[in-house]
Amino acid sequence: MTNSIKLIGVVGAGQMGLGIAQVFATSGFEVLLNDNNKIALSNSSEVIKANLKKAINKGRLHENDGISSVKKIKSEFDISQLGKCDLIIEAATEDEKVKHGIFKDLIPHLQPHTILTSNTSSISITRLAARTDRPEKFMGCHFMKPAPVMQLVELVRGIATNEETANCLKDLVKKIGKISTNSEDFPAFIVNRILMPMINEGIYALYEGVGTVESIDNSMRLGANHPMGPLELADFIGLDTCLAIMNTLHDGLADTKYRPCPLLVKYVEANWLGRKNKIGFYNYKGEKPVPTR
Ligand code: NAD
Repeated sequence: MTNSIKLIGVVGAGQMGLGIAQVFATSGFEVLLNDNNKIALSNSSEVIKANLKKAINKGRLHENDGISSVKKIKSEFDISQLGKCDLIIEAATEDEKVKHGIFKDLIPHLQPHTILTSNTSSISITRLAARTDRPEKFMGCHFMKPAPVMQLVELVRGIATNEETANCLKDLVKKIGKISTNSEDFPAFIVNRILMPMINEGIYALYEGVGTVESIDNSMRLGANHPMGPLELADFIGLDTCLAIMNTLHDGLADTKYRPCPLLVKYVEANWLGRKNKIGFYNYKGEKPVPTR
């Protein structure tokens, strides 16, 4: 069945959607990339070109493959055009209403064989699937950031996902040179069930004055050998996404140990979302990141 997948639709041209589009294009697939924000969509080709250039300079990609990959990605503002795709990966904002709306808009245009997936970090796959016309052909396909670099894709079956769809996604992950793990469909799956409470605790340590931004990040980088400290990692992921994941854990598991830190809430209320808008726990507007507290 994987062989019948030729055209990939990606909804959301943000940090993840661009990376996922790049992964499929460099693996030889044609990609239609959609976003409801015209500016994000029109900037997408420049961002992907810059990322491919970085990959070429680092020796991860041959120059000719970089040029042909750019040509394989077409921007499409009209979501109905993604109905031509064999597989669609929804990678829009981590907000359940937004995701339901996207699938609602897509459904009238889909071919019967089209597989739907979501790159959600935390939202129930069963719930997303249940609101579509094809819960058996729906699956969670959770890429890590940055998608072109990170090896893992977490695959999540909803309660109705059939064997054929699960096998197809497993083979596809292999085909794009990545490794899949399976997670049951519970809030935030495996990676973020473990990672996000650690990040949230790092933010609590800042909130309670246990340490400064720099001491918290240096402690975890140098003391636990993490490649990034929890606060710089939160900025890298996006503070709105971190908050959405904590809320899903808190609501879905009804345990106070998952309560989002009020300081995280405050940063999101200020629209300080991290690297994507150049300010979060660090300010990225100058030459070097500067802590904001
Ligand atoms: P982002 O904020 O960088 O991008 C989201 C994009 O979705 C924006 O360009 C926005 O315009 C677009 N969008 C919003 N509503 C839309 C709609 N109705 N139709 C089309 N496009 C729409 O967010 P991101 O970091 O790329 O995250 C996207 C998804 O990937 C989320 O579900 C998130 O949980 C998941 N994810 C994020 C990370 C991470 O580290 N950031 C890692 C893995 C998975």
